[in-house]
Amino acid sequence: MLAWIFYFDTSSERHYYSALMSAIWSTALSRDQLLELRAVSGELPVAELPRVQAVTVPGSGVISVKLEFTGQDGLVLVDGQLGGQVFVLCQRCLEPVALEINNTIRLALSEADEAQSVPNDYEAVYAGADGVVLQELVEDEILLSVPLSARHRSDQCGALARQLKDMGTSQPESSTPFAGLDELLKKRN
Ligand SMILES: [Zn+2]
Repeated sequence: MLAWIFYFDTSSERHYYSALMSAIWSTALSRDQLLELRAVSGELPVAELPRVQAVTVPGSGVISVKLEFTGQDGLVLVDGQLGGQVFVLCQRCLEPVALEINNTIRLALSEADEAQSVPNDYEAVYAGADGVVLQELVEDEILLSVPLSARHRSDQCGALARQLKDMGTSQPESSTPFAGLDELLKKRN
């Protein structure tokens, strides 16, 4: 009986915890709640970030996020790091190009509408009575890293089309993933 109770407790706690974790990213939190949290970290799928999804190629992966909150002179300082990769379309060849996301976040959440003096290197963000939604802060940061017009490096541009073209013609050796397949098949027969 004791064992059963123990099992029940840990499992409900786990469900509660994971629901709580996703709510942390998507619910408006007051500055006091952020200070109570002190830090959050997690992996946010791009599929769940609508504004990022709108400017990237479907299937872009996950963004890992770490944020810390500290109070200073009536401000809440947000220090954090974003990491991951998204894919956008190259404007020259229209093939996906990978964009590394590796951002340092330094925000100063101020309650006053007019900008308070914020520490150097921190960007002032207004966080009024409604609080802030962390997912939106993260989305803003990612969008800053997505250029309006992305392009491959010139030697990588159009690589997919070239590869497809090569496969359809003479298959020069070792330039396609299927090079050597003919030989292999001959040996098996
Ligand atoms: Zn390209």
